[in-house]
Amino acid sequence: MNNPVEEALPDILIIDDDSTVVITLHKVLCHIGRIRFASDATQAFEMINEAKPNLILLDVELPDMNGLEVCTKLKSNHETKGIPVLFITSNIETGFEEKVFDAGASDYIVKPLKPRVVAARVQTHLAYHRAMEQLNKLAHTDSLSNLANRLTFDEQLDLEFRRAKRQHEPLTLVLIDIDEFKKYNDHFGHLAGDECIRNIGHILSSITKRPADLAARYGGEEFALILPNTQAPGVKVILKELINRVEQSSIHHAPNAMHSVVTISAGYTTLAAEECEQNLTATDLLQAADKALYISKHNGRNRCTFESLSQAYH
Ligand code: GH3
Ligand code: MG
Ligand code: MG
Ligand code: MG
Repeated sequence: MNNPVEEALPDILIIDDDSTVVITLHKVLCHIGRIRFASDATQAFEMINEAKPNLILLDVELPDMNGLEVCTKLKSNHETKGIPVLFITSNIETGFEEKVFDAGASDYIVKPLKPRVVAARVQTHLAYHRAMEQLNKLAHTDSLSNLANRLTFDEQLDLEFRRAKRQHEPLTLVLIDIDEFKKYNDHFGHLAGDECIRNIGHILSSITKRPADLAARYGGEEFALILPNTQAPGVKVILKELINRVEQSSIHHAPNAMHSVVTISAGYTTLAAEECEQNLTATDLLQAADKALYISKHNGRNRCTFESLSQAYH
């Protein structure tokens, strides 16, 4: 059976063709992390592809590639650029330090290896990297709903909009708003209101199934969905299911609310493949979805409305 403590250990990849170095490093680091080895660059890239390590110790001279090239290649790839790389070297010629940092490495350790120095350096970089990852996650997550936050939404919308235009693929944006939420808060209090936002956020995240879909908390009691490569008819099916599921979760609404249970309204729009050449922006998409949401509210809430981009602007 797997030991959960062992599972939590960071994954350290040693890339070196010198077995005495590998043995020494293993002895020093086996208490700090789970160790994997590669004796050349080809094997290393295969292993990194299988599972991304938390830290890499890299020899400068490998049989099939220079370590500096390996590092540059890792740093130019979006998937691997965040992995800290520490060089192992006996090369202390002038200009070498600059080359190491120019290649994007975090640090270097000089041979002969001193066990306590190796352990200290590795632990420092692992801790720094872990802290950065946690900070980045916090900065991109809404703490109440656990959904992506507004920052992530803005970044992702910009990215997906540019991708959709480039690849001539449709992109759908949905804005969702809890109906008469002020009345809910006024009647049940803000803590119950927060719980309600959390519950709806949970339903929302379960409705987005594809890896590229994004469910975000847009603001207060408003949410958004970014659905790349998705056409409007498919979205209608998803939204009807979402609206039903919120209604069927039967959260009692305030006595003076229009509906006896909490409901949501949605507005959505799609950048169609044939509109990709037009001079449209992500802001146009937001404005059209917002207009559609307003129509849902105006027509009695607890519903979704589609607004085509061209309808919104001509
Ligand atoms: P409509 O159906 O037109 O959307 O009406 P509404 O009452 O939902 O809209 P309005 O914009 O008047 O009120 C939104 C309310 O949402 C006001 C605010 O108290 C509440 N709200 C916004 N953010 C939060 C939050 O983080 N927690 C709680 N509990 N309430 C929030
Ligand atoms: Mg070597
Ligand atoms: Mg609102
Ligand atoms: Mg509202």
